Amino acid sequence: MRGISPVPGYVVMQANTLCNLACTYCYLPDRAFHRPTPVAVARAVAESTDRWAADDPGFAIVWHGGEPLAAGRPALAALMEPFGDVEHQVQTNATLINDDWCRFFSARRMRVSVSVDGPEECNDHRVIRGFGRPAYPRIIKGIEALRRNGVPFAALCVVSNPRPGLASRLYDYFLELGCDALGVSIEEQEGVNERANDAGDDAVRTFWAELAAAWRRDPSLRIREIDHVLGYAGALLAGAEDRVLPRRIDPTPMISPDGRAFLLSPELAGFTDPGYGDFSAGNVLRRPLNDIVSEAIVSASWVTEFVSGVEACRRTCPYFGFCGGANAGNRYFEHGRFDQTHTNHCRNSRIRLLEGVLDEVAIRSAATDSAATRIHRAADEFALLIAKAPSAAVTEDRCESTGTYYNWNNRSR
Ligand code: SF4
Repeated sequence: MRGISPVPGYVVMQANTLCNLACTYCYLPDRAFHRPTPVAVARAVAESTDRWAADDPGFAIVWHGGEPLAAGRPALAALMEPFGDVEHQVQTNATLINDDWCRFFSARRMRVSVSVDGPEECNDHRVIRGFGRPAYPRIIKGIEALRRNGVPFAALCVVSNPRPGLASRLYDYFLELGCDALGVSIEEQEGVNERANDAGDDAVRTFWAELAAAWRRDPSLRIREIDHVLGYAGALLAGAEDRVLPRRIDPTPMISPDGRAFLLSPELAGFTDPGYGDFSAGNVLRRPLNDIVSEAIVSASWVTEFVSGVEACRRTCPYFGFCGGANAGNRYFEHGRFDQTHTNHCRNSRIRLLEGVLDEVAIRSAATDSAATRIHRAADEFALLIAKAPSAAVTEDRCESTGTYYNWNNRSR
């Protein structure tokens, strides 16, 4: 993996900035304000994305940031209309989903991912904006509508306090919930969420080990993070490590309602820095997105700084082959710059993830060995697990360890 691709695997679009919930861990600075995206912005984006989608059947438009459904069905339909034959995905808090929304998703074959953090008590920090009432009953009502209407959905779960016993409880909950895939994120310190997120090595590592153990008992639910580890293990065992990471970093443009494009980390939108400006690479109402991306990846100061940070990771971090340098936004919000290496995010969601799964599969007493050595020692065990997780298989030209839902992309470009 070297440098940044001029062609993204997906583009994130905000339908509006408003969110009807106020979650304590949210990174968005403008979520209390209704700033809708004009159709002219969608039209301008579609001029570039239709070409990208024609060359890549996996290409997607992802509606995310603010609560996309708060825009309303007519507005979201109008924003989707300029796009040609492109897959649309939506990341939603589910509170507004009803039968009409389910028909909307089905008619457009949208992929739906809901944000729910586990059983009711795990969602205590999520309340209805302006009322302070718990959001969970409305989240579940929306999920029931998806189930009633036969709309498949993935789930995204944020864990703020990893603690013993939580992972297996979460796994049982999501098995019961009926989602077809699950992503688990440890809370991140980014955007307006300034809470430090170092939950400690033992707690986080044990959390991932317990999640792996729960999945081994019943591997019927696909878990993004387990897929990632098994994909890495499979590639190592096949002598194909170079297929684990994308050939180049995905630029992941995010388009804000005023047409500005933000690369690599949607979390940077809405912030300014004396050294980096407002982080926007250009405005799609004035220049084609295709040009904005291809110019910014070689000239934007913070983008080139991020690339040098990734190279520093490659030189110094034994986990680079699994991680690939993690996310730009976490570096900025934890260190104030992009060329640092370790962050609490990469410790929680890369290093401790890999070590935790290895603890479960390859016996913790061998922890002084490198991850690669431990994987090779437990080759038979990993082969069995990989057979149970076909989505983690390594294929001829790339590792399919992650999937097609938002934020699951780990694709060769
Ligand atoms: S784990 Fe952290 S230090 Fe290592 S490659 Fe990833 S981002 Fe870099």
